[in-house]
Amino acid sequence: MRNLSWHDAGTLNPAQFPAYEQAHIAQAAGGAPVLGFARLTRCALVGAFEDPRRALRLSYVKDRFPIVRRLTGGGSLSVDPDTLIAVLALPAGPYAAMAPDGLMSALAAPFLAAIRGYGIDAAFLAPNDIVVAGRKVASLFARRDGAIVLFEAVLALALDVEELLKTLRLPLEKLTEQGLLAARSRFAPLQGLVPDLDRGALCARIAAETAAALGLSPHRQSPPVAGETPCVMPDDDPPADIQAFLKTPGGVLYMDVWLGPGTTIRAARFTGGVLCLDGGLLVRLQESLVGTGMAQAESTVLVVLGNTPPDIIGVEIADLAYLGRLCAARFHISRHLGLAAATQISTFSPDRTASIETLLGRIDAVLLPYCAKPAWCKWRHRDGCPECGRCAVGEAYGLARARHLAVITITRYEHLRAVLADLKGRGARAFLGVCCTDFFLKRDYAFIEAGIPAVFLDIGGDTCYTLRQEEAAYAGRFEAEAFMDARLLGRLLDWRERLGASDA
Ligand code: SF4
Ligand code: SF4
Repeated sequence: MRNLSWHDAGTLNPAQFPAYEQAHIAQAAGGAPVLGFARLTRCALVGAFEDPRRALRLSYVKDRFPIVRRLTGGGSLSVDPDTLIAVLALPAGPYAAMAPDGLMSALAAPFLAAIRGYGIDAAFLAPNDIVVAGRKVASLFARRDGAIVLFEAVLALALDVEELLKTLRLPLEKLTEQGLLAARSRFAPLQGLVPDLDRGALCARIAAETAAALGLSPHRQSPPVAGETPCVMPDDDPPADIQAFLKTPGGVLYMDVWLGPGTTIRAARFTGGVLCLDGGLLVRLQESLVGTGMAQAESTVLVVLGNTPPDIIGVEIADLAYLGRLCAARFHISRHLGLAAATQISTFSPDRTASIETLLGRIDAVLLPYCAKPAWCKWRHRDGCPECGRCAVGEAYGLARARHLAVITITRYEHLRAVLADLKGRGARAFLGVCCTDFFLKRDYAFIEAGIPAVFLDIGGDTCYTLRQEEAAYAGRFEAEAFMDARLLGRLLDWRERLGASDA
């Protein structure tokens, strides 16, 4: 019987991790499957395709600890020596051609078996978690380059939830005692389940189960020598000229475009915490877009992808192509309102068909967030505004009322849902909504559920996400002031008028 070589590398410096992964791939390329266990000193471990500026709270990470990038896609993690990372590399075999979701559950099986060996009822939760009673024990990631499969399991032995909340940009609770309790209830670190857990024995158990699943014999070897590579620095590229994002079942995918002369694309980038198993796919898409016209972004993506479903869990060909269309739509908006304005305006079309012009022409109401009203204003937590002339929200009210549009201040999350239900009940065709991008990304189901097309105008300044006060904000208790560009809102409404929209 062939061997599965395995080792425990102990604790590594995060800068060694890229070489450690490469050593596994090199061994598999030589035809030998290998499983290694390592722990890393405190770091942020970002997914292969993540933009650290979007995934991490860099203001906290700063000089405290390094950022290291995995070879596998998926979300970013807050890691310390209580995190056990298993790295499995397999040479050519059945996993190279398996459907991505099937591969994840198949390679999760030996980890499940090892955990169940402690009498714990662990389960695989698609797409990439191992859970116990719904609480996360481990995250799973994979990549395949050619025939070689790299599979990584990140198991929390113990977990510092406060550090996690500070490190990652997640829609999680604020750092109160109650918020921490709520966040802790989502995780089940193994040492909490098995108080006398012996890490060495756990590794040996996983190695034995993995070998058995692969029809191999476990054979312990020395860990590879891993040199250091510079850790990831959030790149200081100038901000993209055009950006678009799309929430898919596989995660949020972003497309950034830097423009060349005229309407051509100088550079493009796809990022996100998506589980893209084909390590080169997104780069191939990016390269294919260079030199093409903005208007051809969608068709270019379609040509590159052909009819083969992308090797990404929860992301379809249509999603990647639609991102190209969204970027082209923002470019189109920039031609009317300027490049800076285009980054603040996005469209929401439930069936993905409506253009900005169509949506503008159908706007029946304007929804404004309470957080853009001054903290001292007695109308901050109430719907309505007497237009006292002392803030941008008053201007927005004036602009909307002059056009006989219904205008509503959203005062808390439940209010938003009630307003959307009311608009839907009245047959509203579309609305103009002002809110921060983070809110749209994290609570988009409120808009999806209502199904009303919309044009969104982003707000700037301190948002409750940057200040980690999202729970307070949903309850209408956020005290900082966000910036709303009333001038741009006016220009959007002027464009609507030029389109000949009749007042609702
Ligand atoms: S314009 Fe309206 S929202 Fe702004 S300060 Fe005056 S009353 Fe408050
Ligand atoms: S989530 Fe917070 S910052 Fe964003 S629109 Fe709502 S209250 Fe304002």
